[in-house]
Amino acid sequence: MKKLAVAVFIGLLGVMSFSASAGHHGKVKAYWGTSGMFGPFDIRGLIPSLPEDKARDITIPISMWVIDHPKGIVVYDTGNNVEVEDNCKNYWSPGLCDFLKPSQTKETNIGGLLKKLGYTVADVKAVVSSHAHLDHAGNIEMFPNAIHIFQKKELYQGWWPEKFQGRDGKGPFVLADLDNARDFNYLELEGDYDIFGDGTVQVLSTPGHTLGHQSMRVTTGKSGVIILAQDAIWMQENLDGYPAGLNYSVQDYNKSVTRLKMMRDLQGAPLYMGHDGAQWEAGGNQWY
Ligand SMILES: [Zn+2]
Repeated sequence: MKKLAVAVFIGLLGVMSFSASAGHHGKVKAYWGTSGMFGPFDIRGLIPSLPEDKARDITIPISMWVIDHPKGIVVYDTGNNVEVEDNCKNYWSPGLCDFLKPSQTKETNIGGLLKKLGYTVADVKAVVSSHAHLDHAGNIEMFPNAIHIFQKKELYQGWWPEKFQGRDGKGPFVLADLDNARDFNYLELEGDYDIFGDGTVQVLSTPGHTLGHQSMRVTTGKSGVIILAQDAIWMQENLDGYPAGLNYSVQDYNKSVTRLKMMRDLQGAPLYMGHDGAQWEAGGNQWY
């Protein structure tokens, strides 16, 4: 009898350890935060293709995601640099501060978000930057010990943007966001990547908005698969067929929008956009 109980106990242990190692997807979670807000401003400042009758003033989030995986914490985009909180016009061009009206505070920057969720900056194992624009890679220098995941082309773009995208410091690439990060550890990608090797946290190459923009696909325990487009798709109007302004390549932008829309439809997975006010109101500031 005693022997049987021991055997059953050992058998149970075996089942428990099997289920613990059977997959990580049940334990992965992702939090949608924002680096303050931008706006209000006329939507046509971002989407010049929009007809007059669809014009309106918008206030939009600057989406950042914190992904908690058993093998480590991943931050997807670090928002606006902390300097915009009280020194915007000395850090960004004054015109961008006036147009975007950033409302970020130290509570809502990426450091504040991590703290709110119970993490420290030092807990972050990997930082994925969708692209090198000022509202997405603004605080990579806060993470000197993390592995930084970029498309290789985006590093080139960040350091030497096309002239039409602004090399004069007045555009969306801010050299001060990157200049002390040259010697960090970069995983320089040329395509998609499965960060933890179990399929749950994937980087997707989605160029067009910039030369090396990248999106993500995360399999969470609570919400299943979610697709995080970031600036491959800014907002609903882009899904409705009005192309975003500011594209490096309109052709690549359209291919990336199509790729993400079809992934959404084939996999039945919700698609979260980088700067959509209504979607943020409905689903921001929460775990998935
Ligand atoms: Zn953006």
